[in-house]
Amino acid sequence: MLRLLVYAFLLCAAYFFIKKVARSFLEGYHQGGDRRPAPPPGEAELVRDPQCGAYFMRQKGIKGVVEGKAMHFCSEECYDKYLKRKSRS
Ligand SMILES: [Zn+2]
Repeated sequence: MLRLLVYAFLLCAAYFFIKKVARSFLEGYHQGGDRRPAPPPGEAELVRDPQCGAYFMRQKGIKGVVEGKAMHFCSEECYDKYLKRKSRS
């Protein structure tokens, strides 16, 4: 009799486990496509500071024009350093 109870319990546990796995699998399948919403163009874009090599969000940096090219720097300091380095070489 005890064995029957154990089997019943195991069956219930297996049933709930499978149900849970199936649900999370289905949810993962449905959410899979649009987990990362695309950032607005040109705004939340990661750019690299050519002076110190740090990556930062474009709108948080400094925009500078070096030799006719628009460049982005993490700070005014890096912009100055880069300009000096460019004028030296
Ligand atoms: Zn920098």
